Amino acid sequence: MIRLLIFMLFCFLAYTLYTAVMRSLSGGRKAPPPEKSGQGENMVHDPQCGTYLPMGDAVEKTVQGEKHYFCSTRCRDAFVKARK
Ligand SMILES: [Zn+2]
Repeated sequence: MIRLLIFMLFCFLAYTLYTAVMRSLSGGRKAPPPEKSGQGENMVHDPQCGTYLPMGDAVEKTVQGEKHYFCSTRCRDAFVKARK
């Protein structure tokens, strides 16, 4: 029984050593920095064509005191024209 424990301990140490060596070889920077853009970004609705897009890509326009987001200036202009 003791033999088995020693063997398991040896395996564990070998594995720990192996991962430590591999980590140092690959620069030790495995975890990528958290990205702010993309999935975490707020999605906005284009009331003109009905598409959803990230707020960073949207064209912002306040129409009659209400803030709206559009996928393009074409949608924005069409929406503003329809509201007039
Ligand atoms: Zn649109």
